[in-house]
Amino acid sequence: MAPADDDFADVRASVARLCADFPGEYWRRMDERNAYPQAFVSALTQSGFLAALIPEAYGGSGLSLSAAAAILEEIQRSGGNGAACHAQMYIMGTLLRHGSDAQKERWLPAIARGELRLQAFGVTEPASGSDTTAIRTSARREGDHYVLNGQKIWTSRALHSDLMLVLARTSPREAAAKRTDGLSVLVLDLRHAEGVSIRPIRTMMNHATTEVFFSDVRVPCENLIGEEGKGFRYILSGMNAERILIAAECVGDAKWFIEKATAYAQERSVFGQPIGRNQGVQFPIAKAYASMRAADLMVRDAARRFEAGLDCGTEANLAKMLAADASWEAANMCVQTHGGFGFASEYDVERKFRETRLYQVAPVSTNLILSYVAEHTLGLPRSY
Ligand SMILES: Cc1cc2nc3c(=O)[nH]c(=O)nc-3n(C[C@H](O)[C@H](O)[C@H](O)COP(=O)(O)OP(=O)(O)OC[C@H]3O[C@@H](n4cnc5c(N)ncnc54)[C@H](O)[C@@H]3O)c2cc1C
Repeated sequence: MAPADDDFADVRASVARLCADFPGEYWRRMDERNAYPQAFVSALTQSGFLAALIPEAYGGSGLSLSAAAAILEEIQRSGGNGAACHAQMYIMGTLLRHGSDAQKERWLPAIARGELRLQAFGVTEPASGSDTTAIRTSARREGDHYVLNGQKIWTSRALHSDLMLVLARTSPREAAAKRTDGLSVLVLDLRHAEGVSIRPIRTMMNHATTEVFFSDVRVPCENLIGEEGKGFRYILSGMNAERILIAAECVGDAKWFIEKATAYAQERSVFGQPIGRNQGVQFPIAKAYASMRAADLMVRDAARRFEAGLDCGTEANLAKMLAADASWEAANMCVQTHGGFGFASEYDVERKFRETRLYQVAPVSTNLILSYVAEHTLGLPRSY
């Protein structure tokens, strides 16, 4: 089913080989136990795939965003779930683009070697999800430290990470000229931090997400990324890469659902013929395929613009929305094609259905993407 112009064939083939050791049965077991897929994440780290975007000078493979997208797409296409570790690829970008040379030397080679995990990214708070500038977690300067107080929610993988990027207020929202000012990005070393407590949140899919509480947590000033008060800009600059990579995962999910449904429609016989002979069964599969291919083109376009250093806010947002819609359409179609078996966990369809539902909401919800396009692309008035 691969498109004729499929690229990164070698990368895709080696990711597929690695994923073959982690079949549906493995992911089902993790899902049933709500367990972190450590063996898979370790294999991906050891193979160097998680360091794909780290430049060679820091020990990574220095691959392009398109190659990283191909890696994540193949993981999803194999039936796995890259959400266990995908953030390490794009969180690192904030450090790479805005960190000092000393910070990059200190952390990037260790991340590339798999000795340090940078998997957690704390932006969202209970009272501020879509409205990032409303965050309340504060970092007060005291000598050569910041003192962190507040709470984050939905901080995924915090229990499986050594470092965490935290967005905090270093000056009050009211004191800032613009509401996007006064936010700063700190690298919190979870291994040595005192005053941090982390509580898992149980969700409809196995996602290792948590809430994180900070009570007078001391973070050395040398862990501030870039300039104090400019953190919102640094986070924003990483969002396009994040959206493109998650969109690629959704394309991978859509491919998995389409392949699974196509195979089942051939083998399942009802009224003496394969169900796939009925157009009522064929057409939703063909429609899902068309949506997936269209979304895939948008993902490739967004990645191409990103790599050329062009503005890609519109394309990254459209890619994320179209791909999340395509994966959700394919998921729904796949359940329907399987009839009752779509609900049986041993088919993996219901698990993948639950997993791919997330991308209508996170890391940015569909409404917020439409608002972005209305305002920034079409010039309509800001609605909020
Ligand atoms: C499993 C999971 C993992 C996550 N991982 C992380 C993580 O690692 N780090 C992190 O920082 N965050 C993480 N998030 C948070 C995620 O980014 C937010 O859930 C998301 O941004 C939406 O914010 P919210 O949940 O507060 O929804 P809200 O902002 O409260 O929005 C609720 C609903 O209202 C709609 N809405 C809000 N405002 C408007 C508007 N102006 N116009 C139209 N509709 C609007 C939204 O589209 C949404 O449907 C995760 C979330 C989940 C569920």
